[in-house]
Amino acid sequence: MRRKLAAGNWKMNGESTALGELEKLATAHSAPGVDILICPPATLLHRAAQTVSDSAIAIGGQDCHPAQSGAHTGDISADMLLDAGATAVIVGHSERRENHDEGDEHVRAKARAAIDAGLLAIICVGESLAEREAANTLDIIAGQLAGSIPDIVTGENLVIAYEPIWAIGTGKVPTLEQIGEVHDFIRARLERRFGTGVGRSVRLLYGGSVKPGNAADIFAVSNVDGALVGGASLKAGDFSPIIQALE
Ligand code: PEP
Repeated sequence: MRRKLAAGNWKMNGESTALGELEKLATAHSAPGVDILICPPATLLHRAAQTVSDSAIAIGGQDCHPAQSGAHTGDISADMLLDAGATAVIVGHSERRENHDEGDEHVRAKARAAIDAGLLAIICVGESLAEREAANTLDIIAGQLAGSIPDIVTGENLVIAYEPIWAIGTGKVPTLEQIGEVHDFIRARLERRFGTGVGRSVRLLYGGSVKPGNAADIFAVSNVDGALVGGASLKAGDFSPIIQALE
């Protein structure tokens, strides 16, 4: 049985005052029936981890460098995330892939570094609007899965987030059939590559304009084990009902 996961990605949002949202979330979900993860900006990681240290909420990074340390100005290693109190990290988010020109091989190296450090790696995949309109979605997803996932994964150290790029921050959401098709496809690919044991234990998240109003419908789709939520994770009042819809 896969434990559901509600993950929030704050992106480049949040200063000290945002820690208050974490406090509210921790109070509202003292004994959640699902895993809850918040990925704040790096500047807040340590304080965020301290804020939720007595709660059921976990803290994650939004990216990590493939190397353990060295001359990489501005970057953060997986070990540093762990040291700051993180237990997970997002890698291969489409905004990283696009804004920092990160390809599958690079994403795989980051995921490998995260897993080696003992973090849960959340690897993002997803097609652009042009790729969907050209009926290339499953080919794109297949390529990203093959290229971005290292060989060392298990159900405990890997989560895949399916995030259609055109649905991120746009208010547009694929149909439930489209979400189901891609999640079933990802599940089948994982089972084929890693065997049914691992393939069936990896959690699959949907991400892209998840809101309190559409969460329950999305969570009812087969092979959707939770969500990676951007905008609606910034306020406890928006994220709480999404968590509740998953419980
Ligand atoms: C995201 O960036 O991971 C995301 C899903 O954003 P939003 O929920 O705002 O669409």
